[in-house]
Amino acid sequence: MSLPGPGDIAVHPSAIASNPCLACGACCAFFRASFHWMETDAGGGTVPADLTLALNHHRVVMRGTTGSKPRCAALVGEIGTAVSCGIHPLRSSVCRAFKASWEDGEPNPDCDRARAKYGLPPLQPGWHQPGDDSPPEAPAPEPAPDRRAA
Ligand code: SF4
Ligand code: SF4
Repeated sequence: MSLPGPGDIAVHPSAIASNPCLACGACCAFFRASFHWMETDAGGGTVPADLTLALNHHRVVMRGTTGSKPRCAALVGEIGTAVSCGIHPLRSSVCRAFKASWEDGEPNPDCDRARAKYGLPPLQPGWHQPGDDSPPEAPAPEPAPDRRAA
């Protein structure tokens, strides 16, 4: 699967205002994003298999999210400025389940931790208003920790 290059990204400032994930992307370059292989298109799911690597008999990881300097192969753009998930409608369950802090009215320490690595402050309560059509997609050292749902 070919992904758009960094120059292809176009995020309107109003979208960033209602969805801070579009100006972040830290969790996609911090956690290991692993999930069952049947979530890939090779297993009948949606995630492009060519963007994954085998982890064991049952699980795969998004390419780029292992090792000491993780960055998901599907992440497009510049972290902390303007980003998007190149496979957003096709992303795995672990990526769908990860919540930005206060998205559901609760903090997510893992979101805060990922942002801190890139010098970004933790999100504050109130950024997500009911009715917002802004679902964030938004998964270290040795090895990168698994991405977890909040
Ligand atoms: S949300 Fe998209 S860019 Fe982020 S880890 Fe998941 S697949 Fe990769
Ligand atoms: S969930 Fe948190 S760390 Fe991930 S992109 Fe959104 S604000 Fe950044």
